[in-house]
Amino acid sequence: MSLLDELGALCEVREPWPGDLVDGLRPQVVARPASTAETSEVMRFCHERGLAVTVRGGGTKQTWGMPPARLDVIVETLRMDQVVEHAHGDLIATVGTGLRLADLDRVLRENGQQLIIDDLVGGSTIGGAVATNQSGPRRMAVGAARDLLIGVTVVRADGTVAKSGGKVVKNVAGYDLCKLLTGSFGTLGVLTEVTFRLHPVTAASQWVSVDVDPGELAGPVERVLHSQLVPTALEVDHAGGTGPVRVAALFTGTEEGVASRVTAAKELLGAGAGETDATWTGRFPWLGDDEPSTDVAALKLTCQLSSVPALVQETARRGVAVRGSAGAGVLYAAAPMTDLADTVAGLRGWCLRHGGSLVVLDAPGTDKTTLDVWGSDSVGGLEIMRRVKHEFDPTGVLSVGRFVGGI
Ligand SMILES: Cc1cc2nc3c(=O)[nH]c(=O)nc-3n(C[C@H](O)[C@H](O)[C@H](O)COP(=O)(O)OP(=O)(O)OC[C@H]3O[C@@H](n4cnc5c(N)ncnc54)[C@H](O)[C@@H]3O)c2cc1C
Repeated sequence: MSLLDELGALCEVREPWPGDLVDGLRPQVVARPASTAETSEVMRFCHERGLAVTVRGGGTKQTWGMPPARLDVIVETLRMDQVVEHAHGDLIATVGTGLRLADLDRVLRENGQQLIIDDLVGGSTIGGAVATNQSGPRRMAVGAARDLLIGVTVVRADGTVAKSGGKVVKNVAGYDLCKLLTGSFGTLGVLTEVTFRLHPVTAASQWVSVDVDPGELAGPVERVLHSQLVPTALEVDHAGGTGPVRVAALFTGTEEGVASRVTAAKELLGAGAGETDATWTGRFPWLGDDEPSTDVAALKLTCQLSSVPALVQETARRGVAVRGSAGAGVLYAAAPMTDLADTVAGLRGWCLRHGGSLVVLDAPGTDKTTLDVWGSDSVGGLEIMRRVKHEFDPTGVLSVGRFVGGI
C-alpha cells in the first residue's frame, strides 16, 4: 500500500503540487485533516513511522525560517476553517486554525467585532499568523498574536491532543502553551483550534501622514509617541537611499474624538501633514502588487523604541527599504540580494547594540543554510528551547531544523 493510500484511510489526501515544495523539498503526500481528531490520527501515524511533517496553512510564509531538514508529509490545515464559537458578549471567538484572517474578519464584523491581527500578506490563516507571531501596525495598541491568544488546542508530534487556556483571559498551569506555541514555526505541534479575545469595531478611523527627511524623523515620531493622542498605530516607510520617510499615525474611536485627535496630530507632525488612506501600511515592503518580490530578502528587525529613527537612517544608508511600527519597534525590510550576508551581519550587529534582533524571514533563490537566518549566537535560552523541543517532539518529526539553533 502506498503512503498516499495509507494516509488516505485517515483523512483527505492529495498528491503534492509544485506550490507545495518547501524550499525545494517535495513532500510525498499532502494530508488535509478536517478536525483535531483526524489531525491526531495523521500525527500518530507519521510519528510511528518516523515521517517528517511540516504544517501548512495558506502557504504565505512557507519559506520562512530554515529549510526543513527532512520532509515527507505536509499537514494542510485549510479544511479546519470553522468559527467554532463567537461569544459576542464576552468578546471571544474560538476558531479552526485553517480559517483565513480575512474570512474571520468578515464574520466578526457582522457583529461589530474584530480580531486585531493585521493581515500583512493576503491569504494568511489564523494558524500561520500564530505560528509566526505575525504582527502589523496595530500591535502598538493591542500587542501581537501572542497577546490576543487565550486558548489553544494542539496536536503533539505523537498525536496526543493537548488543550491549554480557554475562554477566560487568565488561565495558566504548567507550560503556558499559548505563549510557547506562538512564534514556534510549527516545531512543537499542530495547532488545530485557537481562542482569541476580540475588540469592538470603532466608529471612526483615520490616518494622518507626513513626509520627512530621514535625519529629521525623530522629531515627529517622538512628539506623537509622547503626546496624549493615543494613536492606534505609528508607521514609518522608507524606500532606502536618499528620499523622504513617510510617517503615518492612525487614530480610531468615536467620530468626534478621532476628528479632534487628527487636528492635533497634524500640528504635531508638522508642515505638510494631512489626512491620508495610507494604503502602504499593513503590507510587507517586499510585496509587489500581487506576489512577493524574488529580488530581495525579507528581514524582520527590532530595536528599542527610541532607536527606530536611527535604524531607518542606518537602513537608508545601506540601500535597504524598511517599513513598520515606530510604536512597537518592529520593522520589516526588503534587502537587496547582492552582499546579503554582509548586510545581515551589519544590520544585526546594529540591532543587537540597540536592544533588538534581526531575523532573515525569507531569502528567495538563496541557500539559506549559508546565512545565519536566526542569529543563533545572539539568542538566549537556546538550551532551554532544545529541552522544550525534545519534550514536545522527542523523535524530531515536526518542522525539523526550521527554528533557531537547528530546532
Ligand atoms: C523550543 C521552543 C521553546 C520555547 N520556549 C518558550 C518559553 O520558554 N517562553 C515563551 O514565552 N515562549 C517560548 N517559546 C515560544 C516562542 O519562542 C515565543 O512565543 C516567541 O518568543 C514569540 O516572540 P517574538 O515576538 O519574538 O516572535 P517572532 O518574532 O515570530 O520570533 C520567532 C522566534 O524567533 C526567535 N528568535 C530568533 N532569533 C532571535 C533573536 N535574535 N532575538 C530574539 N528572538 C529570536 C524567537 O525565539 C522567536 O520565538 C518557545 C518556542 C520554541 C520553539
